[in-house]
Amino acid sequence: MEYEVVVGMEIHAELLTNTKIFCSCPTKFGDPENTHTCPVCLGMPGVLPVLNKAVVHYAVRAGLALNCKIANFSKMDRKNYFYPDLPKAYQTSQYDRPLCLGGTVNINVNGKTKPIGITRIHIEEDAGKLLHESSDGTLVDVNRCGVPLIEIVSEPDIRGPEEARIFAEKVRNTLEYTGVSDCKMEEGSIRFDVNVSVREKGSEKLGTRTEMKNLNSFRALERAIKYESKRQIIELKKGHSIIQETRKWDDVKGISSAMRSKEDAQDYRYFPEPDLVPIVISDDEIEKEKSKLPEMPEAKKERYMAEYNLPEYDANLITSTKETARFFESTVNICNHPKQVANWLMVDIPAHLKEKDLTMDTIPFSPEELAELINLIQDGTISGKIAKSVMEKMFDGEGTPKEIVKKNNWAQMQDTGELKSIIEKIVQDNPKSVSDIAAGNKKAYGFLTGQVMKATKGKANPQLANKIIREVVSKKINE
Ligand SMILES: [Zn+2]
Repeated sequence: MEYEVVVGMEIHAELLTNTKIFCSCPTKFGDPENTHTCPVCLGMPGVLPVLNKAVVHYAVRAGLALNCKIANFSKMDRKNYFYPDLPKAYQTSQYDRPLCLGGTVNINVNGKTKPIGITRIHIEEDAGKLLHESSDGTLVDVNRCGVPLIEIVSEPDIRGPEEARIFAEKVRNTLEYTGVSDCKMEEGSIRFDVNVSVREKGSEKLGTRTEMKNLNSFRALERAIKYESKRQIIELKKGHSIIQETRKWDDVKGISSAMRSKEDAQDYRYFPEPDLVPIVISDDEIEKEKSKLPEMPEAKKERYMAEYNLPEYDANLITSTKETARFFESTVNICNHPKQVANWLMVDIPAHLKEKDLTMDTIPFSPEELAELINLIQDGTISGKIAKSVMEKMFDGEGTPKEIVKKNNWAQMQDTGELKSIIEKIVQDNPKSVSDIAAGNKKAYGFLTGQVMKATKGKANPQLANKIIREVVSKKINE
């Protein structure tokens, strides 16, 4: 029997507002514990929350970017549950009237476009954080209480771990482009919950699902779904049934384990938040947010293909993050070699970033310097091979490309006379190659070029060297 994996996803993204959702406490990350709190975000009796308008605007912008319909009328609800990191014992969220409904995200799977439905996007507040200290027991940091979030809920349209990762990456990139969230995974600005079920291939009925919460890397997301779907298939094959539950993903051990049986909506005793008025948004306000959307990855990709003649594959990769696209455009504005710029941004630069644990935000050189490097190759000062070594030193902060080339004496030999005497000696020393060429074996040219490169430590300009080799060899043959 063949099984199909069905995945639905909930994505929580922190919004980039300066203050929290219902009070004026700052949302800054990384400050000492419990320094950004007040009676409102602690939920003390008698306090009144005031909805931060920027939260609504940011959420509307995110909704528009994900092709949702924006509700002119929505409201806030209380989701009641008791947990130590939630001092109010309820989370202010949205239940039956969310802000955004019915969107779509087109993902690219094996060269084909596949639409993934977005059920809804709602706004809510974040909870605090538990710190498990070995000596002091468990401590609570409430700095994050009341930090505004959007929760993006997908339809169960995702089939398998790879599609889930591609979808998550696409949503992350889209949010990052709109500027509503910084989407920093390492700071928990974006977190993924997945609902995984399996069913017989061809069946329409959904199987019983399990949920894994707070997956905070694309790799963990993919691995968790892979493991969990496999586990469910094994259970079903044994004739067992799947229990609806929340499971914990252990990324170090690479396994999931049961945590608690899954609560349903009624367990939360949702009810309308009595302290907040409904959210009413006019069509004009929605239009205004629409006008604030930047050029999105999809449109950028099309433009790169048309304007810079980039292949689709390149355009896709270059536009996958806002920072890479910005770096590309700035570099191309200085040196007009889009394909070369794209090549560096697709291969060497990501490899160095990964090795040095950097990102495009923290890359140690400027678009001007990348342009300078490309110009050095274009004008024949250095070979493509040497350029790779220059790039390495650029990552080590050893100066501009020109400085690095000068310091290491890496400029190609442009002196025809000097190169010619080196070549004459090599031709003299390799009579067999000359007789091979005379007999029609052109391969021997390659051997001679190799010898020249070796003698000049890679600094001979290959085109110039080839030209001189041909001249010297034909002179020799005709002697
Ligand atoms: Zn506060």
